[in-house]
Amino acid sequence: MKVSIIGAGYVGLVTGACLAERGHQVLCVDKDPQKVDKINKGVSPIYEEGLDEILKNNINKTLVATTDLHQAVLDSEITLVAVGTPFDGKKIDLTQVKEVSAQIGNALKKKGNYHAVIVKSTVVPGTTDGVVLPLLEETSGKKAGLEFGVGMNPEFLTEGQAVADFMNPDRIVLGANDEKSMLLLEQLYAAFDGIPQLKTNSKTAEMIKYASNAMLATQISFSNEIANLCSALGGVDVVDVMKGVHLSCYLRPTAMDGSRVQAPLSSFLEAGCGFGGSCLPKDVNALIAHGVKAGSPMPLLSAVIKTNRNQPGEVIRLLEKHFASLKDVRIAILGLSFKPDTDDMRESPAIPIINELLARKARLKAYDPVASHEVRKIFPAHQLPLSETLEEALADVDAVVLVTRWAQFDEVPEILARVNPRAIFVDGRRMLDKRRFAHYEGIGL
Ligand code: NAD
Repeated sequence: MKVSIIGAGYVGLVTGACLAERGHQVLCVDKDPQKVDKINKGVSPIYEEGLDEILKNNINKTLVATTDLHQAVLDSEITLVAVGTPFDGKKIDLTQVKEVSAQIGNALKKKGNYHAVIVKSTVVPGTTDGVVLPLLEETSGKKAGLEFGVGMNPEFLTEGQAVADFMNPDRIVLGANDEKSMLLLEQLYAAFDGIPQLKTNSKTAEMIKYASNAMLATQISFSNEIANLCSALGGVDVVDVMKGVHLSCYLRPTAMDGSRVQAPLSSFLEAGCGFGGSCLPKDVNALIAHGVKAGSPMPLLSAVIKTNRNQPGEVIRLLEKHFASLKDVRIAILGLSFKPDTDDMRESPAIPIINELLARKARLKAYDPVASHEVRKIFPAHQLPLSETLEEALADVDAVVLVTRWAQFDEVPEILARVNPRAIFVDGRRMLDKRRFAHYEGIGL
């Protein structure tokens, strides 16, 4: 199929590269000419395992990047919208979605054949039918369901494993209100044999994405609330508590061969300094605002956000157990991205932790395996110098704070014992065994 994708960010580029790998002819559109140039040279503008390889396989063959949205719509039979949908502090910001809807509508004016416009961005229930569809009709002068169609196909990939997730998804949700658009969506995913598919209307597809993210965020804040109570009670470690919870048959179902398997949901039931990223915080906030607007407030999700907002403060509290004042205390931050295996720092808990430590005039340095270039968009070098190696980060500091669960941080106990045995280690993710440290603090301990 000939596919155009508007927005070549984390979702748009991964979708484009993977659909090209599956045999479609893909045009990736972005308004950022530098991004487009890089992609056309076979270089990924973002860090995602496996993405460079499939870009190189397909670029200028089945995959081309362009800034020309108009031509891309004319040259394709289906357009996926994958632009950003940030939270503006009060509600979802649909500026980018509206802008591209109007541009797509203008291009549709000149199209002879039926064209499907599919929203892949995460948008609050009702957006595809209530915002995108009318804009397309207005700007194209055509009638939805007759000359073009709209649909919604939420994306569930996880940054850090985006290519693997897209190539082998747990589910494919197809939302459309007309048969032709549903047919085009089915053709788009025809090569994804054996993956559970759910066909529904656009509004339900939109809601499925929010319900899924809100469920994950709730597990995290629940675990953190339990962790904070463990800290307050004393004599109980949340890591042992959660080990016991993870043994539940609901989280360790029996496989076909009779063995027990750990449900991946368990990884959301662990204590830490909170969730971040480009999705969970903004999506939960947008859903709460949408609920209020619909006359159905969501007190449970409001509490999930409140717990999460306070959680970076736990790291500061643990440091303060050891230093009367944090002024001039030398602290190394390990991990800046919001999760391992990505360079994405959007809403990373590292940001409030660093801001709070800077406000208290601590002397900071940081180390992250891949997010170094992203951190400079937020903190200048004089505020947050970056170490080249883990060893360099761990030397000459009074305390170390682990914020991101990068696998290579498993080496920290041995390196710290060698280069800086007196440093206090604060485990913001309860990633490492406390018995491997001389001076250990952890959330929920
Ligand atoms: P992103 O910011 O990485 O990418 C958006 C891209 O759209 C940018 O490259 C931007 O330049 C481009 N863009 C904006 N306006 C444009 C225009 N008028 N014309 C052409 N290009 C334009 O965002 P993302 O992380 O890929 O997220 C996109 C959507 O997918 C959001 O709604 C997000 O909630 C959702 N989503 C994200 C993830 C994730 O893990 N990042 C997962 C599932 C769903």
